Amino acid sequence: MRVLILGAGFGGLQLSARLSEELGDDVEVTLIDQADGFVFGFSKLDVMFGRTTEQAVRHSYADVVKPGVRFVSTTIRAIDPVAKRVETDAGGFDGDVLVVALGADLHPEATPGLLEAGYEFYTPDAAFRLRQILQDFPGGRVIIGVTSTPFKCPPAPSETALLMHDFLAERGLRDRSEIALVMPLGAPIPPSPAASQAILAAFAERGISWHPSTLITRLDPDRKVAVTAAGDEIAFHLFLGVPKHQVPAVVAESGMCVDGWIPVDPLTLQTRYEDVYAVGDVTSVGTPKAGVFSERQADVVADTLIARARDAQTSSTYDGTGICYLEFGAEEVARVQVTFVSGRPPYGTFDDPSAQLARDKAEFGTSRVRRWFGRDWTSLES
Ligand SMILES: Cc1cc2nc3c(=O)[nH]c(=O)nc-3n(C[C@H](O)[C@H](O)[C@H](O)COP(=O)(O)OP(=O)(O)OC[C@H]3O[C@@H](n4cnc5c(N)ncnc54)[C@H](O)[C@@H]3O)c2cc1C
Repeated sequence: MRVLILGAGFGGLQLSARLSEELGDDVEVTLIDQADGFVFGFSKLDVMFGRTTEQAVRHSYADVVKPGVRFVSTTIRAIDPVAKRVETDAGGFDGDVLVVALGADLHPEATPGLLEAGYEFYTPDAAFRLRQILQDFPGGRVIIGVTSTPFKCPPAPSETALLMHDFLAERGLRDRSEIALVMPLGAPIPPSPAASQAILAAFAERGISWHPSTLITRLDPDRKVAVTAAGDEIAFHLFLGVPKHQVPAVVAESGMCVDGWIPVDPLTLQTRYEDVYAVGDVTSVGTPKAGVFSERQADVVADTLIARARDAQTSSTYDGTGICYLEFGAEEVARVQVTFVSGRPPYGTFDDPSAQLARDKAEFGTSRVRRWFGRDWTSLES
């Protein structure tokens, strides 16, 4: 069986690793990505706040050496979901099965003034550049603001506010600074009231101001104000923005999307095209856009393809569950587990911040790097 996997992020890496582990050379996996390497979302915050270095968090695709898997470093220019074929800068590729795991692209230029007056912190390069900018920041009014929905990792802006508090406090700049978090959501993590309550209590303790249900629509570079959808203005010295997300252009042009994202069967991740699956941020499967959900969706597709290769049956279906670790600052991490099932409200559990959960989060990263890249790694090594 020839499996063509588009995108080597959380979803593509997990799927290719599982197929290789279970089928070895009995499967022909072609994994395509245009980036040099993989960077965990949370590593962007770690580099930005000086907790580790850019070199330490980039996992080179040259290390993806697995039986049955060929990694191709190139840009995908066209996808034909009927023929299960793609055109790339390195030529055409086709498969018996096609899996689209191309994630969400980021468009800071879609928000007027964001790149002139502020910074986005969601792409690796922008987050890495912020490391020096934050080192040089003399203190002042900081806004962390969201410019569009949906956006990856809904807890990340709250984590950024809490880490910013620690960063400024450690430098003796907290007294002359203000931190505000401006988000279109009504709660920091809407599916988990317990997690939201804990985050809001942490904001109150640290004097972080919270502006719920508020979207930033533009920045005025001359007056250094952020303008909300309601027309209110908030002044800043440093603006860190979550940019607009959309599917990569090659996905939009493939005809696979409905309302901007690829619809899939929520149990099997199958698209409306035969033998074409989609996992992760590129879909509208109904879970938040986060790596843990992409990974679990990839596991279900892996189970299906492994069973097919063995002429066996599988009962594996996607259960909508994800476990997210939340940085609370003070070297503590909390954990939220949420399950999204269509037709009923999400439900889950919350574990209070602790040093033990910080160690668990580190192991989460270490175990993925071991499985996907075959080497040891510690997330906060500098
Ligand atoms: C600041 C921040 C913190 C985060 N923290 C967490 C966290 O703690 N836990 C968590 O679970 N998630 C977290 N996330 C979210 C997580 O990073 C994403 O949701 C996850 O990476 C999505 O996985 P994916 O496989 O769907 O797509 P991606 O991981 O985005 O992978 C898509 C891949 O497709 C490639 N690609 C795109 N277009 C093309 C093309 N035309 N040709 C070739 N290749 C292409 C890209 O290079 C990329 O490697 C965070 C995100 C951010 C920004």
